[in-house]
Amino acid sequence: MTPTYPHLLSPLDLGFTTLRNRVLMGSMHTGLEDRAADFPKLAAYFAERAAGGVGLMVTGGFSPNLRGWLKPLAGRMSLPWHVRRHRQVTAAAHAHGAKICLQLLHAGRYAYHPLSVAPSALKAPINPFTPSALSARGIERTLRDFATAARLAREAGYDGVEIMGSEGYLLNEFTVPRTNHRNDAWGGDVHRRMRFAVETVERVREACGPDFILIYRLSLLDLVEDGNAWDAIVAQARAVEAAGATLINSGIGWHEARIPTIATSVPRAAFAGITARLKPHVTLPVVASNRINMPDVAERVLASGQADLVSMARPLLADPQWVEKARTGRAHAINTCIACNQACLDHVFENKRASCLVNPRACAETELNYTPARVRKSVAIVGAGPAGLACACVAAERGHRVVLFDAAAEIGGQFNLAKRIPGKEEFHETLRYFRHRIQECGVELRLATHVQPQDLAGFDEIVIATGVTPRAVAIPGADHPKAVGYLDVLEGRVTVGTSAAIIGAGGIGFDVAEFLVEAGHSPSLDLARWMQEWGVDPNVATPGGLTRPQPAAPARRLWLLQRSPGKPGARLGKTTGWIHRATLKAKGVTMLGGVEYLGIDDAGLRIRVDGAEQTLAVDHVVICAGQEPRRELFDALQAQGRRAHLIGGAKLAAELDAKRAIAEGSRLAAEL
Ligand code: FAD
Ligand code: NAP
Ligand code: SF4
Repeated sequence: MTPTYPHLLSPLDLGFTTLRNRVLMGSMHTGLEDRAADFPKLAAYFAERAAGGVGLMVTGGFSPNLRGWLKPLAGRMSLPWHVRRHRQVTAAAHAHGAKICLQLLHAGRYAYHPLSVAPSALKAPINPFTPSALSARGIERTLRDFATAARLAREAGYDGVEIMGSEGYLLNEFTVPRTNHRNDAWGGDVHRRMRFAVETVERVREACGPDFILIYRLSLLDLVEDGNAWDAIVAQARAVEAAGATLINSGIGWHEARIPTIATSVPRAAFAGITARLKPHVTLPVVASNRINMPDVAERVLASGQADLVSMARPLLADPQWVEKARTGRAHAINTCIACNQACLDHVFENKRASCLVNPRACAETELNYTPARVRKSVAIVGAGPAGLACACVAAERGHRVVLFDAAAEIGGQFNLAKRIPGKEEFHETLRYFRHRIQECGVELRLATHVQPQDLAGFDEIVIATGVTPRAVAIPGADHPKAVGYLDVLEGRVTVGTSAAIIGAGGIGFDVAEFLVEAGHSPSLDLARWMQEWGVDPNVATPGGLTRPQPAAPARRLWLLQRSPGKPGARLGKTTGWIHRATLKAKGVTMLGGVEYLGIDDAGLRIRVDGAEQTLAVDHVVICAGQEPRRELFDALQAQGRRAHLIGGAKLAAELDAKRAIAEGSRLAAEL
């Protein structure tokens, strides 16, 4: 049979070893790296992805020494006794035919502790600690530590290492004028700035011999002022190749960059063109990275010659079977990463273990298992939103007879609204995945059925996943024709005029604002426009690849309001909230906190801010004031003395998101 993705699935001969396909599982910190006691869980996490067919995997970052720690007591590979715990990980990967590399990451000025070091004593804007400048002896010691760490990695059974030279960590810091103000052998001109990175590669190669994979993660696009321009990047790539690298992986954007690089609104494979620009300048294989999440995208990148491998990290958190599904022509069965960052990166930045919004088993492989049910039960689930869908699929997969009801004509609940927001097109994929999975698991689907208590007779278990209803607001004039709900707007029942005020600046208020400023056009589906909007130079002709942002004119004049003091959006996701705020700011949206709503009338919305009254002369006032649980059915069952489980928004609307809804549905079904 001809494989559907011939380039993606073809092996890659590296001379001394062969990768079984072109999928590299990129480095992703899971929070399981830091304590020896968590290594069995880390091994199980890698085992599952190796069993799913990945060719080459890279661990989360391990520091070569204490000063390079990301945070106190973070994972490091520097002492002989560190080796033993890693053997579990390498054995797990090898048992399933995958190769695995340890990532060596020296955090430089991003280290969150007072012992941090950097080329120059310059504080990063995202870190309270100011690093000390490395002395020449300190540099020599660090080079030795990299070599030692790589040798220990080899002893632990790793097939290689990835040297982290991008994202604004130590090696990257040496290479750019922004953070390297030295004028000695390690700074001053482009060659001296890259010397530390090149010598790191040389020392590691020397320590580990020729038959050891050495991936260099090179910053192809710094996206910060005083970053490198293209000539310096090419010179670095060539020098790194000459120093002994096996592969060059693409690094895109520093952590302090104010341009999104992996969020859901970034177009798919947005930066593969930049990897493609590097390819003719080197002879070693290059890896494209960022927002490659489905096999057709990956195949396109490889088939068009943009890269030799594709790196994916989050897509393999979302679906460990990704490669196997692609190999067997079942891409439609892939649980696609929607690039929300809500359960992976946001968790890491909150010092919590990573997981995945669409796959709560990620990083919980030893804890959350969907084992066959001992007794086959009949289960009724009311509500086919994310909570009900997840519950139905897991329960059916375990062998229960499941009937899933929804009043709507299609599955998905609020995801059918989310998918309409510009930049949230990936939500279509989750709906496609669930549509396929309910069929595959044999869930009986009854749509367009508004369930009443009497419809639920005869089931062993009843699960109520009826979601939420929008909260009504007690504002004078809330019944004025200018006042509309977000459902009316997103479902197209109301066409909003040329100016509007949005009451409520939670996740939905922000989404509605983006919907209204874009007027149906999504920059996420148009790479050239997206780059223009954010000011990214695809030729990297300017330092850091930055140009002047040119946002398209907004479709409407908007005000986004909240009663709480402070800046709106402060409670949005840690790694994505700033993107939403920056998007709306660029579109001229006025965002106000500490607002008192006085009334809605023919003149518009009357508000008081800082004691001063004003009228916003808007055509519409869109109410996005949160939600209340929808529990009529549950309450009616309770009144009849019947037992039912409650999950998702129906259980608790406050702070509800799809992460909680899917996790609750899955966990309940695992226990039924
Ligand atoms: P719902 O999705 O509300 O589903 C409930 C279902 O129950 C509905 O389909 C309804 O028709 C059905 N139902 C109700 N009563 C009955 C009955 N009696 N009989 C039959 N069927 C019934 N979350 C995130 O995590 N990240 C995001 O980026 C995000 N973006 C969003 C953007 C928008 C515009 C919106 C509106 C929401 C967004 N959310 C997001 C929130 C997320 O969609 C919800 O948290 C999630 O859908 C809640 O899931 P649920 O299954 O509990 O309820
Ligand atoms: P929300 O986050 O709770 O925000 C509700 C907003 O309404 C707040 O700004 C609140 O601020 C205001 N509000 C509450 N009660 C009000 C009242 N009585 N009168 C006037 N204003 C009132 O809810 P949401 O925006 O509806 O979102 C629902 C859930 O969906 C969220 O919890 C979120 O996690 C999820 N979601 C997530 C994303 C994402 O990108 N991650 C996107 C969309 C939705 P004040 O009280 O200060 O006025
Ligand atoms: Fe992807 Fe969101 Fe899952 Fe992270 S949490 S892996 S971004 S779907």
